[in-house]
Amino acid sequence: MSKTWDVIIIGGGPAGSTAATTLRQAGRSVLVLEKAKFPRFHIGESLLPYNRAVFDELGVWPKIEAAGFMMKRGAQFWMGDGSIHTRLNFSRGSFTEFPEAIQVERAKFDDLLLRHAEELGAEVREEAIVTEHRVEKDRVTVKFRAKDGSEQEVQGAFLMDASGLGNFTANRENLREYYPGHKKIAIFGHYSGVQMPEGGEKGDILIIRRENSWFWMIPLEDDKTSVGLVLDQADFKALKQEPQQVFDDAVLSAKAVHDRMINAKVITQGHVLTDFSYTNRKLVSERLVRVGDASGFIDPIFSSGVMLAMTSGRRGAQVVHQALVAGKALTFAMKRYEWTTRRHVSRFWQFIEKFYTKHFAQLFFQPSNKFRMVCAINCALAGRTEMTFGTWWRLRLFFTLVWIQKRFPLAKPIRIR
Ligand SMILES: Cc1cc2nc3c(=O)[nH]c(=O)nc-3n(C[C@H](O)[C@H](O)[C@H](O)COP(=O)(O)OP(=O)(O)OC[C@H]3O[C@@H](n4cnc5c(N)ncnc54)[C@H](O)[C@@H]3O)c2cc1C
Repeated sequence: MSKTWDVIIIGGGPAGSTAATTLRQAGRSVLVLEKAKFPRFHIGESLLPYNRAVFDELGVWPKIEAAGFMMKRGAQFWMGDGSIHTRLNFSRGSFTEFPEAIQVERAKFDDLLLRHAEELGAEVREEAIVTEHRVEKDRVTVKFRAKDGSEQEVQGAFLMDASGLGNFTANRENLREYYPGHKKIAIFGHYSGVQMPEGGEKGDILIIRRENSWFWMIPLEDDKTSVGLVLDQADFKALKQEPQQVFDDAVLSAKAVHDRMINAKVITQGHVLTDFSYTNRKLVSERLVRVGDASGFIDPIFSSGVMLAMTSGRRGAQVVHQALVAGKALTFAMKRYEWTTRRHVSRFWQFIEKFYTKHFAQLFFQPSNKFRMVCAINCALAGRTEMTFGTWWRLRLFFTLVWIQKRFPLAKPIRIR
């Protein structure tokens, strides 16, 4: 008779490998089914300081440190014409516990996390494409196409869906909902010869705000920078041009980007992703927990994806372990996992929603640290998901000022071009 696993995980990205390591730490038998052969390219290269808390819990930090990724100490937000900018320095936020993060080539980073899970005893099958899942009273059955092309079936007590934007189980159950007014497209590539900040600001991510779109510039190595453009799909369609042409024209018209890319040479370009912001109506059901992007994904502007994916992978695995201990298919802790995951996402969503408005930009780009409001923003955008009262009321004050700014200008006007 074939083995019944405690947990089967679909997907070996950051959420899946975090869940697998967590379950192995609890002594559970785990099977990870991953469609790609690792290392594989993936977007999502700028991490947040609070990722470090999860790295420590997984015991993977020494390996990450030894891998020599670029350190990220700050995030710079620029206006497209270069007229104004602001920098969040993570080591200077009085509520921010972790002073730095890392910028990563995801091929190397994801591979490192997955091998760590494997070293702890998770069984990882790559080039294994999950095609079907079925939840029964006492087990889950998962069908997949193995590397050799054969159709196979495995069984487990629980299923964790960490299939990323593939959103495997929720798509099959029609649970996906897109955020209205938030249909975006991202066009991106890797370049050498990009002039990025040096000295104390080396390693900073640059976010460049244009009127209805924005660029990221992420230094991955000394001479390798990831550059991406995010814009509304409607605007993209109206342009009736190839993605790379749209990207190149946008670079030309954004001085803050163009000045840095004058000597840039293409390493890879023309990657495109669309429709990546969505939520799922349900994150847990009997014997099933969704983690990472498979629980929903918001706009990448504040680089929250990997941190949220790993946090939910960790917490999702913990509630699955507890359910196994209790011998139950659905527990209150699983429901609480869903509420908490949504709350963590909403911390970023309040910034993302407002980021595209002018009144938010006027205060965000001309910050005042009165009452240490900027420190509270620093802490939230560094990825702290559980707020203290002290940071909570400061953030509320900031968003109240944003609300007032819309009606009665408090800050100097700025032009967004
Ligand atoms: C344009 C853009 C820019 C971004 N920039 C950032 C950033 O700067 N910083 C950041 O933190 N985040 C960023 N993100 C988000 C980040 O990429 C994701 O949040 C993160 O990768 C989520 O991890 P995950 O493990 O949930 O999913 P993934 O990393 O996507 O892993 C899912 C895995 O599941 C596998 N899989 C899928 N379907 C199946 C199947 N049927 N069978 C078997 N395996 C399957 C896939 O092959 C994949 O390896 C960005 C996202 C976008 C769209």
